[in-house]
Amino acid sequence: MYQNIQEELLFGRIAVKKGFITEEQLKECIEIQKRSAEPQLLGIILRDKGYINREQLREIVEYQKKHMRRPATDPEEQKSDIAFGFIAVKLKYTTLDRVYECVREQTKAAKLGLYFRLGEVFVKKGYLTSEQVKDILAQQNRTILECVGCGTRFNVIGYTPDRAVKCTKCGRRLEAPSDPHSIAVDKAINLGAAGGDDEDEEEAPGSGSDESIE
Ligand SMILES: [Zn+2]
Repeated sequence: MYQNIQEELLFGRIAVKKGFITEEQLKECIEIQKRSAEPQLLGIILRDKGYINREQLREIVEYQKKHMRRPATDPEEQKSDIAFGFIAVKLKYTTLDRVYECVREQTKAAKLGLYFRLGEVFVKKGYLTSEQVKDILAQQNRTILECVGCGTRFNVIGYTPDRAVKCTKCGRRLEAPSDPHSIAVDKAINLGAAGGDDEDEEEAPGSGSDESIE
């Protein structure tokens, strides 16, 4: 028996999502796995078949580790993802249909233990550019910063360039990310959280509250 069926399933999904293998190749290797007398890891089968190389194998494992650790549902982050979707529509960057499509995709991935922010899903599907995502995050008063020490990425809420922000993990300084195109983040820091959870309702002139839509 395999130690963790879910991890195996996830491994295959990531390999496909990353474009390393096709659905057909995955199916073929799952069949091989089922038929083999000795338990074999899917990653090893894929490598033996020459569908992925060692570097890709390592990349998938790293990716899996990183995403599995993240919480699947943080209500605060979910709320901000909903707002993200509506701002994207408001800016005419995308359609409501695509927002729903990406939310469904996000939920599906979360069930597999993979956690993506909505912006990441949009970029992966080619519906938004990383520039547009940053634009939307800026509207949400969010800036992506990266720790100079441990490399953890943060969505920093309420950041202004004159403020020094420290990593909540290692205490080092946060700076603009080394790869400006990457929009994946590991955590959020709310600089405006000190005075309780009042919401800034300034950003959308006119239109009704985003929060009330379900
Ligand atoms: Zn750090």
